[in-house]
Amino acid sequence: MQKSKNLLLFRFLQNLSSPFLLDVSSTVEYFTFNMQKPSNMYAEATTWNPFKGCKFDCIYCVTSFQLQAKRQMHNCMKCYDYTPHFHPERLSAIPSARTVFVCGNADISFAEADHVNQIIEAIREHNKSVKNQKTFYLQSKSPSCLEPFLEKLPGNVIILTTLETNRDEGYDKISKAPVPSERYRQFLALKYPRKVVTIEPLMDFDIDVFSGWILNIRPEYVWLGLNSKKKPQLLEPSVEKLTAFAKIIVKSGIPVKGKHLRGINLPGVERHQD
Ligand code: SF4
Repeated sequence: MQKSKNLLLFRFLQNLSSPFLLDVSSTVEYFTFNMQKPSNMYAEATTWNPFKGCKFDCIYCVTSFQLQAKRQMHNCMKCYDYTPHFHPERLSAIPSARTVFVCGNADISFAEADHVNQIIEAIREHNKSVKNQKTFYLQSKSPSCLEPFLEKLPGNVIILTTLETNRDEGYDKISKAPVPSERYRQFLALKYPRKVVTIEPLMDFDIDVFSGWILNIRPEYVWLGLNSKKKPQLLEPSVEKLTAFAKIIVKSGIPVKGKHLRGINLPGVERHQD
């Protein structure tokens, strides 16, 4: 336990020099506009993890997915350590929720091709056995890994990538995943009709470049959310910049679904989880 605490402290101190990380004494203030009741759409989603783990080491994952994985100490040490690994016994245990995040506690770019094929086959078989098809989300921060599988995906699979910002400088202190510009290029190049972009946890960005990326990708919609945890404190855009960004995306006809917006009411943005 002491060892993991020291590791967290080391990572925290190591990252203080990134332009995306705030000084610990800094505070971020947000204005709260007209509060609306959020919908519970997100409550209908769940995670299915026939493959679990990741080596991208995003600093915000330590306090979310990786912390949740620590509950698995008595079940699977690879889950506990977040080491990428396959759980074939889970292939047939697809949850009953309407929306399923496939390997939501992982990055599927670390999975072997044979395992990804087995996961896709399990979805296909499941589709045959249910009357109302659910929606499956398949996501990666190295989205070119999905390219060999695109033709095999059934129509109820949406592919996702996360873009927290457009800025590459200092991103190596946030994650070992491909930098945002590379990730954008990879995702844009994928020939697949159903895409979603997750902009979460949002970090400061350049409005023209970042909105241009989203408009070029033309996803079915975007998720937009601030860091849901208190640590690490990320450098976030001002409310004015966030509002202007959301306005461009909404105006282009791309729906924006808000998550963890701390009560900020962005015109035209659906609120799903505060
Ligand atoms: S890519 Fe996803 S699963 Fe991997 S470390 Fe980052 S947040 Fe965690």
